Amino acid sequence: MVSYKELGLVNTKEMFAKAVKGGYAIPAFNFNTMEQMQAIVQAAVETKSPVIMQVSKGARNYANATILRYMAQGAVEYAKELGCPNPQIVLHLDHGDTFELCKDCIDMGFSSVMIDGSSLPYEENIALAKKVVDYAHKYDVTVEAELGVLAGVEDEVSSAVSHYTKPEEVIDFSQRTGCDSLAISIGTSHGAYKFTPAQCTRDPKTGKLVPPPLAFDILHEIEKKLPGFPIVLHGSSSVPQDEVDTINKYGGKLPDAVGIPEEQLREASKSAVCKINIDSDSRLAMTAAIRKYLAENPSHFDPRQYLKPARENMKKMYIHKIVNVLGSNEKF
Ligand SMILES: [Zn+2]
Repeated sequence: MVSYKELGLVNTKEMFAKAVKGGYAIPAFNFNTMEQMQAIVQAAVETKSPVIMQVSKGARNYANATILRYMAQGAVEYAKELGCPNPQIVLHLDHGDTFELCKDCIDMGFSSVMIDGSSLPYEENIALAKKVVDYAHKYDVTVEAELGVLAGVEDEVSSAVSHYTKPEEVIDFSQRTGCDSLAISIGTSHGAYKFTPAQCTRDPKTGKLVPPPLAFDILHEIEKKLPGFPIVLHGSSSVPQDEVDTINKYGGKLPDAVGIPEEQLREASKSAVCKINIDSDSRLAMTAAIRKYLAENPSHFDPRQYLKPARENMKKMYIHKIVNVLGSNEKF
C-alpha cells in the first residue's frame, strides 16, 4: 500500500472547493505516454494551474499500471524541478468500472478515483459507488461517481445514446453514495465524433457543422438541488478544426469530426462544474503534429524528431484550455 501523500500528490477536495467558489474548472487531461505527461506538467507549471492527470483502464493496459504510477510520481518531481515547490497534481482513475480496479488504484497511490456505474440500474450504481467511497475515504482518496449516460466511444466506455442526468435523483444519489463529485450528462459526449452530421446544423456562412447546445437548464437545476457540490463534465474536447484539417491534409481521414464549442465549456466552467475532461484534443494535437512532421521530413526516423513537435503542440493546446477555456491559471 502506497499513500498518494507520500508521492506528493493531492486529492480533489480543496481544489474543487476553490474552483466552485472561484468560478473556474480544473483541467483533467488523460495521459498514456511520457510526452503527454511532460506536456501536461509543463503547461500546468507555466500557467500556475492545478491539474488532474487521469488514467483510464485502457491507459493502464497500454502503458502498464506500475509504470503509469511511477510516471505520476515523476510528474510531481518534474514540476518541482520546473520551479513549482508545491505542485497541485491529482492522479485520478478515469472510468473505473469495478470496486477491485478502484481499490487497486487507491492501493497504488492514486489520490482520486472515478467509479462509473452509470450503465447499471440506479440502486446498483448507488451500491457500487458507496462501496468504493467507503474504502477510498479511509485513505482520504476522493471519489467521482456518475449519474446519467454519455453517448460516444472512449477506450472501453461506449454508448450509442445519451441519457441526461435526472435532476430529481442527484440529492438522493450524492447523499447515499457519499461521493465527492458527480459526473453528469448534459449533452457532452466521448471521442472525436461527438455528434453525427444529422444531429448538427450547418453554419450557413462557413458550412461547418454546429453541434446541439449543452443542456444548461439541467445543469442549473442540478446546481439548485446541490448548491456548491462539485460537478464534472466528461467528453469535453472541442475537436479543433485546424488540427483535424492538418490530419486530413497529411494523409489522415477524419471526416465530420465534431466537438463541444469552447464558449459553452467556458460558460460551464463558471458554474458548479469544476472538472472538465479533455482527452481527444490531446490525441488530435499529437497526431496532427506527427503526421505533418513525417510528411515534411520523409527521411527522418528518430522518434525524438517527431515526438518533440507533438509534445509542443499538446502543450500549446493544454495552455490554451487552461487560460482561455477553464480559467484555472494563476491559482497558486
Ligand atoms: Zn469519460
